Amino acid sequence: MEELVPKYDLFIQKHLFPIEKEIIYGSFKSNLPRLQALREIAKKEGLFAPHLSLHEGGLGLELMEFARISEVLGKSPLGHYIFNCQAPDIGNMELLHQFANEMLKEKYLVPLQRGDIRSCFAMTEPNNAGSNPVHLSTRATLEGNEYVINGHKWFTSSADGANFTIVMAITDPDNPNPYQRASMLLVPLDNPGYQLVRNIPIMGDIGDDYMSHGEVTFTNCRVPSSYLIGKEGQGFALAQERLGPGRIHHCMRWIGICERALDLMCRRALDRELDPGKPLSSQQTIQNWIAESAADIKASRLLVLETAYQIQHFGAKSAKEDISTIKFFVSGVMMKIIDRAIQVHGALGITDDTVLSFWYRHERGAKIYDGPDEVHKSVLARRILKSYSKP
Ligand SMILES: Cc1cc2nc3c(=O)[nH]c(=O)nc-3n(C[C@H](O)[C@H](O)[C@H](O)COP(=O)(O)OP(=O)(O)OC[C@H]3O[C@@H](n4cnc5c(N)ncnc54)[C@H](O)[C@@H]3O)c2cc1C
Repeated sequence: MEELVPKYDLFIQKHLFPIEKEIIYGSFKSNLPRLQALREIAKKEGLFAPHLSLHEGGLGLELMEFARISEVLGKSPLGHYIFNCQAPDIGNMELLHQFANEMLKEKYLVPLQRGDIRSCFAMTEPNNAGSNPVHLSTRATLEGNEYVINGHKWFTSSADGANFTIVMAITDPDNPNPYQRASMLLVPLDNPGYQLVRNIPIMGDIGDDYMSHGEVTFTNCRVPSSYLIGKEGQGFALAQERLGPGRIHHCMRWIGICERALDLMCRRALDRELDPGKPLSSQQTIQNWIAESAADIKASRLLVLETAYQIQHFGAKSAKEDISTIKFFVSGVMMKIIDRAIQVHGALGITDDTVLSFWYRHERGAKIYDGPDEVHKSVLARRILKSYSKP
């Protein structure tokens, strides 16, 4: 497995670094043929979809092994997409693989795994606090053998151009257990009851296609009851399953971003001269930032791999606090290192002439999505405080 790491590294350096700025600061949609051509090269080199089993056309990697690859792919904003292991599709693949019926698997999972279609995940609502996952207004009511869905969602990432969404909707509003009120349903996006209202601008960048965040509505949107994923009322249980390994993928991708930002920081510090023969790197503050960033990256990697080990061997439930810890720790490290790298670049750092401004704008959300950092800190703090409680 370790021999795979330099192969992915070489691929992204050779094929992605030279073109990434043109695509992330331009139109993703109009570059789809170019991106598809790169996916074909990845397939030919036997590197496509590393997270899938051999039987499904992947590399059959364990979670910890895929984590190492995810770190390398994170160095380019296009890395995960090219190898078809990008969020939210990777999470949806896992969900469908584990819980969908055979009909849904054949119709939606197989083309998703091949990279022929894309998907999205619609849970968060503009009118309810997303940090309380049970606080949802979207309803799905069973009428005969169809569910009728009504609701308003936003931050449905990558909805633009997706083939289907998995929507979280309340199916049993009176259940005394709020965690058993919601279900997950697959909705094909050519459904007349579905509408993509807009792509939401993120700090001035509206994005398109895969690189976008949609506001969407469901108005008397009908799907067959066989489009239910898992069982009715299992929505939150399935969401938990989706999020455990998902946090490992995100965190390792963030570490890849940190490594690239540190690399750019070092190169600039060595090249930029304050005076002839006096590079920025001669300054102690810059040296401190470089050393602190390297240490933060190493600490993050060890924490995430330890959590991946725990999930891989004992299940996501046993690693609840560790998963919360890596979520807020690594997102904090990432934002700190991106910010330092920008500072070292001076005015150049805030331009779109490097990838840093893209990450500064788009990765700020990392402290908010998958549960705001504050919620994860409370999970960890409560566990620690519990050990002090009187018998
Ligand atoms: C880039 C990005 C991509 C996303 N992609 C998706 C997607 O594909 N599908 C999807 O369904 N959703 C997605 N989301 C939405 C995301 O899941 C929500 O934004 C998140 O759950 C927080 O909900 P909220 O935005 O409503 O914030 P709110 O719940 O309104 O919280 C606002 C703030 O309050 C604070 N806070 C909240 N709870 C607590 C607490 N218990 N203790 C202390 N402070 C607290 C936090 O600082 C938080 O940031 C995405 C979000 C972003 C930013």
